[in-house]
Amino acid sequence: MQVKQTPHIAVIGAGIAGLACATALQRAGLTVSVFDKSRGAGGRMSTRRGDGWQCDHGAQYFTARDPAFRAEVQRWCEAGSAAPWTPRLVSLPHDLPAAAPTQVEVERFVGAPRMTAPAVFLAGGLSVATDTTVEQMRSTPDGWQLRSTEGDWFPAGAGFDGVVLAIPAPQAAVLLQQPAAELAAVASRTAMRGCWAAMLNFDAPVALPFDAAFVQRGPLRWIARDSSKPGRDGAETWLLHASAEWTEDHLEDDAGQVAQLLVDAFAELGGPLPRARTAHRWRYANSQPAGQDGSVWHADLRIGLCGDWLHGGNVEGAWLSGHHLAAQVLASFTTAS
Ligand code: FAD
Repeated sequence: MQVKQTPHIAVIGAGIAGLACATALQRAGLTVSVFDKSRGAGGRMSTRRGDGWQCDHGAQYFTARDPAFRAEVQRWCEAGSAAPWTPRLVSLPHDLPAAAPTQVEVERFVGAPRMTAPAVFLAGGLSVATDTTVEQMRSTPDGWQLRSTEGDWFPAGAGFDGVVLAIPAPQAAVLLQQPAAELAAVASRTAMRGCWAAMLNFDAPVALPFDAAFVQRGPLRWIARDSSKPGRDGAETWLLHASAEWTEDHLEDDAGQVAQLLVDAFAELGGPLPRARTAHRWRYANSQPAGQDGSVWHADLRIGLCGDWLHGGNVEGAWLSGHHLAAQVLASFTTAS
């Protein structure tokens, strides 16, 4: 494969890992094109918006322990795209009737005014093609070409000098099967579990003595008053997440029935009946177990893998994974030139 003077890299996936990788590559002078199948950037850092309400239904908050990620979060906060969130947080264990305060105090951040904001901030400086599902990769003497579900081939001219897959492991495994079976095998080793989410809207503030709770009762594992996060406006909205085990048992159930079961479980915790409810199924919510490799770069094929499944299984890990991969890509192209 010929490498152009300014290498052109394709990044598949505009979640936080892909955007972190793309940003670092572009800053170093490479040309970067990002593709995402969704309407906007953010991936699992996601917000559902309805008539007069909004709700983060994927990632709920993120921590920032690594110094590089802390500096990045500071940048997002200064840009107004993130803010600290200090909910009244409790635990609702299965063996205690009352709520217990959480023991370990952790600094938590959220996107502001919604969880997608950091991704929107990063995507603003990049070339991102949304509504574009990459379903095939092929190697040509001129570089890599990507075909979208709509049948278009990218790029229009000479191929990409490298491809980064910043997508969940099971989706990466499918895409890599034909062009890079060796890497497909790496991705296949990580299983990912689902999570049913329910978003509840209320006409008035819910009279529960907390804003968020780690739950160990029935199907629920996490509940949060989305309206308590900074910058949110609109109706009082609560988010409920089911456990991975319960989700796996109800993966193919009707969304309306799932919403009803989760509302019933919320009622057992003292929650009132909502005015409206919506359920969303995350098929690939989190990896089991999350890897600690950082990222994978195959220098001969010029294909890289990054994402939360390779580093810690959370927002911070996904961002670090993207950065880790960018460093490997840059080292590889510097050596090649
Ligand atoms: P993703 O965000 O999944 O991004 C991948 C992107 O690739 C998506 O935008 C997708 O549309 C796109 N894509 C996939 N296939 C293709 C294709 N073929 N072509 C084009 N585009 C494609 N983390 C925390 O830190 N704290 C939490 O509280 C937390 N709670 C969570 C709760 C839930 C229910 C879920 C689902 C996740 C939660 N997480 C949490 C995990 C966190 O959201 C992820 O770790 C992180 O957002 C993953 O980022 P990523 O870039 O690796 O992947």
